Amino acid sequence: YVLGLPPPDIAFPEEDTEQVNVNNLPTIYRAIWETARKHDVDDAITRRVVAMFAYDVDLSKRISAGDSIEILQTAPDGSGRSELLYVALKTGSTSRELYRFRTDEGSVDFYDPEGETGKRFLTRRPVKGGGRLVSRFGYRVHPIFKTRKLHTGSDFAAPLGTPIYAAGDGVVERAQWVSGYGKYVQLKHVNGIETAYGHMSRIADGLEPGMPVRQGQIIGYVGSTGNSTGNHLHYEIRVNGRPVDPLSVKLPRDKALPPQYEASFTQTVTQVRELMQRPAIPALVVAQR
Ligand SMILES: [Zn+2]
Repeated sequence: YVLGLPPPDIAFPEEDTEQVNVNNLPTIYRAIWETARKHDVDDAITRRVVAMFAYDVDLSKRISAGDSIEILQTAPDGSGRSELLYVALKTGSTSRELYRFRTDEGSVDFYDPEGETGKRFLTRRPVKGGGRLVSRFGYRVHPIFKTRKLHTGSDFAAPLGTPIYAAGDGVVERAQWVSGYGKYVQLKHVNGIETAYGHMSRIADGLEPGMPVRQGQIIGYVGSTGNSTGNHLHYEIRVNGRPVDPLSVKLPRDKALPPQYEASFTQTVTQVRELMQRPAIPALVVAQR
């Protein structure tokens, strides 16, 4: 796939319209995997697609009628590998499109039509698989103390030992037992932002205050230490020391395409959109008797 030239070997996904039983709809996560498998999309590409949307989309939500995913990839090369060129996910009333773009220096990333990466400065659900949201940020009756108080984070249930990731690049501030939180890690990020992770069964080996961490690095494992009634991650985001709702706080995007690429990126977007408007190549039918 060379920018500015007609792509030679584009594989069109087959028509992907399916009748679904609306009473028992799968989660977005499962639907993406099932759809991809059904259409022989390489697992590596599916993982990449899921990771790209995980920053932004609540993948544990159930799909609704009309939700769709479109994937454009190159035809497999000699070793059977395909390259993802474009992916669009439509859920409810929102739709997200990401286009592959390669800069002159050769770095490849996926950008939305405005030239921003789908990546976020912080992950909203920093646990492997995203967990199951069991308690939101906000006032609630505490499950143990039965008093009404502010729940300062989001709780994601996940099996014991599920990896917990650093939500963003930062530095470890605390990695220790903290009353109530149990085994606890606190990270400091830029702009006065901190993230905190509670009730871990185990803190990652060697994690110590002052240590730099990268987004996605494993910092610990899900457990039920401290005041907890079951295995889950209690996840907090604090802005200047004040806890905010991790699922709704507006977070800055991580990075955007440098302005000098605007014209060629716009061309890429136009090209892909034209391709996607064409009808899918009909399956070759050979009548044999
Ligand atoms: Zn909690």
